[in-house]
Amino acid sequence: MNLLTYEQALGSEDGCREEYLMYEGLRNTWAGQPLVRKNMLIDGKWVAASDQATLSCLDPYSEQEWAEVPVATVSDVDHAVSSARRAFDSGIWSNAPPAARFAALRRLGQLIEDNVEALALAQVRENGKLMTEMVPSTRAVASDSHFFGALGEMTHGYTVEPSIPNFTAYTRREPIGVVAAITPWNNPLVLLGWKLFPALAAGNTIVIKPSEVTPVSTLMLGELIEKAGIPAGVVNIITGAGATGQALVQHPDVDKIAFTGSTQTGVAIAKIAAERQARVSLELGGKSPNIVFNDANLSSAINGVIGGIFAAAGQACNAGSRVLVQRGVYNEFLERLSQRANAFRMGDPLAADTEIGPLSSRAQMAKVTSYFDIARGENLNLAAGGVRLDRPGLFVSPTVYADPPKASRLVREEIFGPVAMVMPFDDEQEAVTLANDTIFGLASGVWTQNLSLAHRMIKKIRAGTVWVNTYRMGGHVIPFGGFKASGVGREMGLHALDQYTESKSVWINTDAQS
Ligand code: NDP
Repeated sequence: MNLLTYEQALGSEDGCREEYLMYEGLRNTWAGQPLVRKNMLIDGKWVAASDQATLSCLDPYSEQEWAEVPVATVSDVDHAVSSARRAFDSGIWSNAPPAARFAALRRLGQLIEDNVEALALAQVRENGKLMTEMVPSTRAVASDSHFFGALGEMTHGYTVEPSIPNFTAYTRREPIGVVAAITPWNNPLVLLGWKLFPALAAGNTIVIKPSEVTPVSTLMLGELIEKAGIPAGVVNIITGAGATGQALVQHPDVDKIAFTGSTQTGVAIAKIAAERQARVSLELGGKSPNIVFNDANLSSAINGVIGGIFAAAGQACNAGSRVLVQRGVYNEFLERLSQRANAFRMGDPLAADTEIGPLSSRAQMAKVTSYFDIARGENLNLAAGGVRLDRPGLFVSPTVYADPPKASRLVREEIFGPVAMVMPFDDEQEAVTLANDTIFGLASGVWTQNLSLAHRMIKKIRAGTVWVNTYRMGGHVIPFGGFKASGVGREMGLHALDQYTESKSVWINTDAQS
C-alpha cells in the first residue's frame, strides 16, 4: 500500500509536477541498454544461484525485459538461512546495544534518502507504478527506517508488584531469531521496510525473498544495507520464483515468517509454519467497502473513491473495490464516477501527467481480464471500461460495474485491478450489512458530514482500518493490518516490534536468605 492519497501522489495539490518533468526522456536512454544483472546477497557476498539459473524482469510499460536475477536453489536457500542463523547466534546484531542498531538504521535511512530517485526508478521499471507516486513512497521508506530504529531503542517490557511477598516480576522482549520476509510486487520497498526495519531494530536477522516481479529494487536496497555497515549475514536477500518461497518457509531454522500477498498463499504459509510453531504475520487480501452517504461532500467522496480504487491501477491490498452509495446520490455519483473513469490519462509511468500506469505483470493482466470475462458471463451492468487497451503495454481501462448482485464473483473476490463495483444502499443498517458481507476485513472508507453516523460506522465495520472522509491515508505511527481473512497481526505503529520479539517473564525471589 502507499502512504499518500491519490491527489498528493499526483502532485496536484502542491503543484510539484514540474519536479517530475525531468524523468520523461529517460526511457530513450534505456532503449538498447544491456540487461541489468544483479546477484543475491548471502552472508555478506553477492552470489549467483549455485546452478546459475536466472529469471528475467519485464518492464510492464514497454513489455521489454530489462533485468535478470538468480533463481535460488534449495541449497542457496539453506545457505542464506544458515548465514542468518550464524549471524543471530553470534550475537553480533542480536546482542548489540539497541542504540548501535538504531545508528545503523539511521545510516540506512540516510542512504535511502540519498538514493530515492534510483530506487524509485527501479520500482517504476519493475511494476509500472507512477514515478510521481514512487518518489514520495520511497522517501517514506527512509523515514520508516528512522522510526523503527528509534522504536528499537525503546523496546521494553513491564514490571509488576506481585502479591506474593519477597518476589518481584517483570517481562522483557527479546528478538525471535531468524525472520523470513516474503514481500510483494505492488509496493516493493515500503512493504519490505515494514518488516525489515522492525525485525532489525529488535535484533533479529533476516532472509528476504522479494516477488519475482520486483527483485531489483530490493537487491539495490541490499547494496545500501551493506554500505550502512550492517554486519554480514544479518540481512540476506534471495531471489527466485515458483519454489523459493516455500523452501524458505519450510526451513527449520526460520523462526518467524512475515508475508504480504494473497490470502491463498498466506494460508499455505500459515499451515507450514503451524507444523513447527514458527511465528507468522500475514498481510493479505481485501475487498474493502468505500461507503458514500447522502450527506457526503460528493466531490470529495468521488475523489476519494477514485483514489481508493484507481490509484496504482487498483493493485493495492487496501483498494476500495466495493463502492457503496446511498440511494439519494447513487445516480449522480455513478454518472460522475463513470465520466471520470473514462477520462483518465493513461501512459508512461515516468511522465509527470500520467494518472494511471500499466498493470504490473502479464500474470496480473491475465487475472484482471479474466474478471472482465466473468462479468460478461454474469451479465453485469458495465458503466465504464472493462477492456484491455488496444495499445502496447499492460494497460486495462479503469472499470466501473453498476449495481452487481451481491453474489457476483467480482463483488466477492479480490481482483487487484482498477475495477470498482458500485452498489446502492438505502440506510445505515444496509450499509453495515453490505460492508461486512465479505470474508475480508482489511480497510474501509466512510463519507459523511454527520459525526455521529461516522462514529457508529467506525464501530460497526469489521476492518483493520476505517477512513472517514479520506482514503488510503497512512503512516508509520498507526498500525496496518486486517480482520478476518485479511491477515494476522499488525505492521507499523507503536507495537510493531511485538511482531518481531518474544516476551520473556522473569520472577525474582528478593529474599536473599531463602
Ligand atoms: P502470492 O500471494 O501468490 O505471493 C507470491 C509470493 O509468495 C512469491 O514470492 C512466492 O515465492 C511466495 N509463495 C508462493 N507460494 C508459497 C508457499 N507455499 N510458501 C511460501 N511462499 C510462497 O502473490 P502473487 O504475486 O502471485 O499475486 C497473486 C495475487 O495476490 C494478486 O493478484 C493479488 O490479489 C494478491 N496480492 C496481494 C498483495 C497485498 O498487498 N496484500 C500484494 C500482492 C499480491 P515463489 O515464487 O518462490 O513461490
